[in-house]
Amino acid sequence: MADDSNAPDAATDADAETLVRRVRDGDLRIHELEAHADADTAATARRRLVEAESGVDLDAVGSYGFPADRADANVENMIGAARIPMGVAGPVTVDGGATEGERYLPMATTEGALIASVNRGCSVLDAAGGATARVTKSGMTRAPVFRVADVAEAQALVTWVRDNENRLREAAEATTNHGELQDVTPYVVGDSVFLRFRYDTKDAMGMNMATIATRAAADVVEDETTASLVALSGNLCADKKPAAINAVEGRGRSVTADVVIPRDVVEERLHTTPAAVAEVNTRKNLVGSAKAGGLGFNAHVANVVAAVFLATGQDAAQVVEGANAITTAEVRGDDLYVSVSLASLEVGTVGGGTALPTQGEALELLGVAGGGDPAGSNADALAESIAVGALAGELSLIAALGSRHLSSAHESLGR
Ligand code: NAP
Repeated sequence: MADDSNAPDAATDADAETLVRRVRDGDLRIHELEAHADADTAATARRRLVEAESGVDLDAVGSYGFPADRADANVENMIGAARIPMGVAGPVTVDGGATEGERYLPMATTEGALIASVNRGCSVLDAAGGATARVTKSGMTRAPVFRVADVAEAQALVTWVRDNENRLREAAEATTNHGELQDVTPYVVGDSVFLRFRYDTKDAMGMNMATIATRAAADVVEDETTASLVALSGNLCADKKPAAINAVEGRGRSVTADVVIPRDVVEERLHTTPAAVAEVNTRKNLVGSAKAGGLGFNAHVANVVAAVFLATGQDAAQVVEGANAITTAEVRGDDLYVSVSLASLEVGTVGGGTALPTQGEALELLGVAGGGDPAGSNADALAESIAVGALAGELSLIAALGSRHLSSAHESLGR
């Protein structure tokens, strides 16, 4: 039985019933309810309509434990909330460029054993003195596509863009207090010209910010050249689709975490050897992924990215880009070196879903809620913490595979 934390009081109940009646009478449409009542009443009425039409009891969905107007900017046609269990992995010591110290990693997931596995990896990282992490590149992209007459016009547009980047910067940056245009890279395909704008969006993931700024810059392109804007997003951005350009050029934060783990720690805590971990990584993550034509040369980075994204209010669909990661493992002397490099981790600590109540608390737990000082440092710190979590996850899973390999090898070798 669901708890009753959003159960309407008598007045709300009556207001919700009025809305239900008005929708049934054809006086209101189901997406118009917030204009005629507060957000919780509107959600209650909409849920009742859906329950009546479907015959499904939505008590649990309707028990969401925060004022519905806190989600105004995040959802339309609200009927309640999906609740996902949240746990923590860690603490793990992070030596980052933007964050330092012990961190609990909040993870929202329905995959049993995931947090236990990442937690095991975190304890190994800590036994090795913690993990190092750095953001090495940062920039959110938007790539509109323009139509030109022919290749001569395409070349003229490319030249114009190179000569007028400052004018584009001026127009783009007039739309935002925080965003900075870093560069514009043209790509020509026949009579289509794509201009890939890249922005420093500081603590915002930046997709809205980049889109609004690029709209203003595209107006200048249209005013000053023969090119016509066909679409503000030409898919060379590339947002929420698997794309090699993100894996190669980066998008959002490019972040790497690494660690050297003493051999005795590998043997005692992971029940395997540095050589076995390195072999599993090479044959599985590198050779296997290459043979599969994959973009993600890793074991399960998406697992950590998805769980932290859900916990901290990131855009869940961008797990697609977050999975563009390469894991390396090698024997160094007696010890084990492991790294994970996420090429395109799109994260923010302001905007999007970051201000929702549970998501905001999860960001606070990581010490990165809101805008950083300097701007951008909180999103860098979040990226570094996720990278360390991904490293823990990689280590734990690869070692589990390695220890099984080891035990089966022992078995087959009779020792
Ligand atoms: P946003 O909420 O649209 O923008 C972030 C806002 O925070 C900006 O208005 C910025 O103001 C302000 N801000 C305050 N302090 C800041 C700081 N320290 N650093 C950076 N900005 C700061 O969020 P967004 O990150 O640009 O976009 C994320 C949203 O876009 C998500 O909801 C996501 O689902 C959605 N999305 C949109 C598209 C699209 O194509 N439009 C695609 C994918 C996802 P100033 O700009 O005035 O500086």
